[in-house]
Amino acid sequence: MKPISRAIAAISLIIVFSAFASDQTPTVDWNTVAKIREEGLQRSQVMDIAGYVVDVLGARLTNSEDMKRAQAWVKGKMEQLGLENVVIEPFMDYGVTWDNEFFSLHMLEPDYQPMTGFPLTHTPGTQGKVACPVVIAELQTKADLAKFKGKLKGVAVLATPPLAISQASLAQGVARLTDEDLKKLQENVVPPAPRPASPPPNPDLLKSDEKIAFFKAEGAVAVLQCEGGRPGVVVGFGRPGTKDDKWSREESLGSLPIIAVTPEHYNRMYRILKRGLAVRIEIEIRNRLGEKVEKAANVLGEIPGTDLKDEVVMIGAHFDSWHASPNASDDAAGCAVALEAVRILKAIGVKPRRTIRVALWGGEEQGIYGSQEYVRKHFGNPKEPKNPPTPDYEKFSAYFNQDYGAGQFRGIYLQGNEHARRLFAAWMEPFRDFGLTAISIQSVGSTDHVAFDAAGLPGFQFIQDRIAGTAGHTNLDFLDTLSAEDLMKNAVVEAAFAHQAAMADERVPRKLLK
Ligand SMILES: [Zn+2]
Repeated sequence: MKPISRAIAAISLIIVFSAFASDQTPTVDWNTVAKIREEGLQRSQVMDIAGYVVDVLGARLTNSEDMKRAQAWVKGKMEQLGLENVVIEPFMDYGVTWDNEFFSLHMLEPDYQPMTGFPLTHTPGTQGKVACPVVIAELQTKADLAKFKGKLKGVAVLATPPLAISQASLAQGVARLTDEDLKKLQENVVPPAPRPASPPPNPDLLKSDEKIAFFKAEGAVAVLQCEGGRPGVVVGFGRPGTKDDKWSREESLGSLPIIAVTPEHYNRMYRILKRGLAVRIEIEIRNRLGEKVEKAANVLGEIPGTDLKDEVVMIGAHFDSWHASPNASDDAAGCAVALEAVRILKAIGVKPRRTIRVALWGGEEQGIYGSQEYVRKHFGNPKEPKNPPTPDYEKFSAYFNQDYGAGQFRGIYLQGNEHARRLFAAWMEPFRDFGLTAISIQSVGSTDHVAFDAAGLPGFQFIQDRIAGTAGHTNLDFLDTLSAEDLMKNAVVEAAFAHQAAMADERVPRKLLK
């Protein structure tokens, strides 16, 4: 053949082949699915894995000594499961480590009561036990500063308004997704219009870090705050400004102890003060801060592929958590599911064509940092001229994530990718009895599949039932909120999706780059 006709022949072959590949009904490997179901439903270890992470390792704040210990365990676990290329891979400078080592809070007057709470991350401790009066100091605008000038020396401030506590979830329970809910999700086929830009912030309003700086300058001892409004549930995150000062040791030590308090206890103090009566409390906090800037890390491991081993299918979840509880549902559950999925695949001896890689991310809670930096480094992004696609970009197939609580999978969000519908419809077929039926075209956010999607790579989050529990970021997210049956089913589905994606004739197709 002349070169030109050879080229034409090659092109027509590609056209014929891709038309063939993309129109063919995807095959489902029912035989392997049966083995995955048998291993995952009759010999599951998902609760053993979740239990170790939650009960023994505990909270896993990004770049804490707690997290380093947990990541070392996970690396060993991946090796024990027979994964290869297991690595704790640093992704970015992440300030100094911060760990809370001791916390106690008591009301001393007008009545004794032990109180529930915890310090925000990257705040200093107290110098031993401190007993002090409490003052309400809700600051909104810069004009409010004058009202409190000279009045806060040696006190603890109540910095937020009292919260109405909703009993609704206790009274009504938590409903799983109904057939009607799933139908609505599926029928919602047009993406929503982009949200209008939010108006510029009011320059008179004080920012959270400005309030803390004022309290500090006025000589306050500590700041107490309350958010969330659910019975018994304490919600709290990091010191305001940590992202801007990059989790700095100096800024952390130079700030004030900031304590998130359970709504009932906070409201009680607030109401007593509003009667004009005095409240005295005792606080003792010990926090450990690292001496030098360190890198936060992800943990990864692989089942290497065979004839297509350079092509990659990924599953994962974020291993980091907020610090006030082990965050069983956010996201120890998703990590246990991903580890159990690869355990099942190893146990039944699959030899995938493409490499199956499991990723347990860090830095998700503070801004999806771990997965974003991973995608940037390993795959690049055609929309970022300074960070062009790497050779691995084209070879990537898909990433599957669990991070919408610990409830079971009921379907998958296509993330606007109509081209993946055909494959996922076929891969879900063996799990109709699980109630895994819905495919939604909608895009969802707030977790690690977004890092892939933003780079034009297929990244997906499953549609999940809501189940009872505080859903993370709280002091009350323990193993008791997990349902073994839900997680067993999820691990089986995730293993089957990973296997199908690793064996399919084609990589998961991509949506057109916008
Ligand atoms: Zn999460």
